[in-house]
Amino acid sequence: MNYDREGQPVAALVWFPVLAGEIAERIVWKHHLSRAIGKRAIVVGAGAGGIATAARLAKAGFSVTVLEKNSFTGGRCSLIFHEGHRFDQGPSLLLLPKLFQEAFRDLDTSLEAEGVELLRCPTNYKVWFADGESFELSTDLARMKTQIERWEGKDGFHRYLDWLREAHQHYELSVSEVLHRNFTSFWNLIVPHFVLTGLKLHPLHRVWGRAQKYFWTERLRRVFTFATMYMGMSPFDAPATYSLLQYTELAEGIWYPRGGFHAVLAALVRVGERLGVEYRLNTPVRQVLVSPDGKKARGVQLEAGEILEADVVVVNADLVYAYSNLFPQTPKMQSYGKSLRKKDGSCSSISFYWSLDRTVPELQTHNIFLADEYRESFDAIFDRQSLPKEPSFYVNVPSRIDASAAPEGRDSVVVLVPVGHLPESKGFSEPKSAGMPRDQDWPALVDRARRAVLSTVSARTGCESLDKFITHEIINDPAAWEDKFNLDKGSILGLGHGFFNVLAFRPATRAKGLANAYLVGASTHPGTGVPIALAGAKITAEQILDDLGVMVPWQGNAAVDLDMDRGVPQNEKTNPLDRIQPGVSQVPALRVVLYIYVLVSMLWILWYWYPMRKTLLVSGA
Ligand SMILES: Cc1cc2nc3c(=O)[nH]c(=O)nc-3n(C[C@H](O)[C@H](O)[C@H](O)COP(=O)(O)OP(=O)(O)OC[C@H]3O[C@@H](n4cnc5c(N)ncnc54)[C@H](O)[C@@H]3O)c2cc1C
Repeated sequence: MNYDREGQPVAALVWFPVLAGEIAERIVWKHHLSRAIGKRAIVVGAGAGGIATAARLAKAGFSVTVLEKNSFTGGRCSLIFHEGHRFDQGPSLLLLPKLFQEAFRDLDTSLEAEGVELLRCPTNYKVWFADGESFELSTDLARMKTQIERWEGKDGFHRYLDWLREAHQHYELSVSEVLHRNFTSFWNLIVPHFVLTGLKLHPLHRVWGRAQKYFWTERLRRVFTFATMYMGMSPFDAPATYSLLQYTELAEGIWYPRGGFHAVLAALVRVGERLGVEYRLNTPVRQVLVSPDGKKARGVQLEAGEILEADVVVVNADLVYAYSNLFPQTPKMQSYGKSLRKKDGSCSSISFYWSLDRTVPELQTHNIFLADEYRESFDAIFDRQSLPKEPSFYVNVPSRIDASAAPEGRDSVVVLVPVGHLPESKGFSEPKSAGMPRDQDWPALVDRARRAVLSTVSARTGCESLDKFITHEIINDPAAWEDKFNLDKGSILGLGHGFFNVLAFRPATRAKGLANAYLVGASTHPGTGVPIALAGAKITAEQILDDLGVMVPWQGNAAVDLDMDRGVPQNEKTNPLDRIQPGVSQVPALRVVLYIYVLVSMLWILWYWYPMRKTLLVSGA
């Protein structure tokens, strides 16, 4: 007897239509593929979104060229090297590992097959407080229990589990309903299914507000809210949905690719090149060229003057910058560009990359130093766009998890001090209320940030002041972020992620007014972060293929979480040990019977008890 994929028996005769179906499917696939063959796609920018879109389009049959202004790939997710020290220029926390696996799986490969080794950080973070206390966030439930009970007692741990359950819901619903969907119009938001889902995501609550419900000490509220900074947002403003970020760390861990975060993107570049993608580095694009009627993109012009024709143009450069600089400046485009420049941007940073001549064992891989004036430290950044008097900051020691990040006996240290973004976009002098003025004394400001970091680190960890051991320093300030990667106002995480900047309110993946130009990356759908940009690449690539009637090669692959985690298939071949047998209250029919039983019992009690009570009252008993 033969069995199908679900384990059902299939008689030999049944094979014929199955085979015929597969042959027909292949013919249709070839037909659709032929629509892509010979089509030329240009991708502007080799950031996470650009690299992944290029590989996906090549897989679908396009001939793809990626044009990157810098001499390296990865954009923000790139590396800095100095005399044996290696630093992650931007991302250092690999979260949502399944979205990475999905990107590789859709390209018929895997992280392992491409030689990417993910190292699991033994502790997620050490959070250092000014009063000398600390908290180690971890996937280890026993460690979490001990620490939470220390501060909030037994009930505290109970409430932590409740918070985790809510954050789990935010995570699962976001992955299935948001990260894999393109929101092309406002109507996508008001379908009943999405409205119901939306309510469960608590988008109108704030991360801080929900944390107040579950954590009753200020200390734990801080511990479980600072992660909104990954989106460049204050926990006092960020929609409560984003508790999913800390949930993924606690449930799935924080990972680090051996060789640096860029190792993942380098592998995707190799996969793309195998599929035929051509990378042209040191190749800045000046503008997207359009057809005479202005309705279609016909290619791009490089800064060097060369013109490249294409059937499809995908812009991975920062979206706000692109609308003001790369797309043709028609009056409509100008006014759209202006409206984008006014939208809330994420924060910027003063980032230090320090080579140390010794190790600092007091520091773990990921360290968070929270300002005592917690709320004020966010308000200074997000309301006044400045450097807080007492900044909160993040210290990453890649050499703690991966020895290849520094020469033996030394450490490489990255410090990220979040600050406000620049007041106006480069080349535009628009009156903007707040921002870090371009003409301020930057060396003095950087010096203030450095001094705050050095004194806080030694005061809280007990290590000697790091400045004695720094042999070399590299700095990225907001202007450097803007220059290196064309990030509008130096906002390191792109457009903000407040309620009116996400879902259907986020700028679309199809360029305004241009039928065959698209966007991918942190400032379009679904949003910022390397895994999210990879999910965005899938959305944009599928939109392109759909527009051109080209079959999606990875169609039929379930989203990774469904694929990997749907449990043991349930059929007659399932081992009895693995048979799913819901508890009594989980079986709907039984539940209904139970409800009816309870209801009837209550009515029965009322029916008999009421006259009995009356009789008792009348008899004066
Ligand atoms: C300091 C910092 C820390 C971060 N930490 C994390 C983290 O821990 N985990 C995480 O997941 N994410 C993190 N992020 C966010 C993450 O790095 C980004 O969301 C993601 O890398 C954005 O990818 P992207 O596709 O938008 O491309 P980008 O990285 O923006 O790349 C776009 C590319 O386009 C190029 N380009 C621009 N203009 C032109 C032009 N005219 N011609 C040719 N090329 C052009 C740029 O040079 C760049 O290479 C961090 C970011 C920063 C800056």
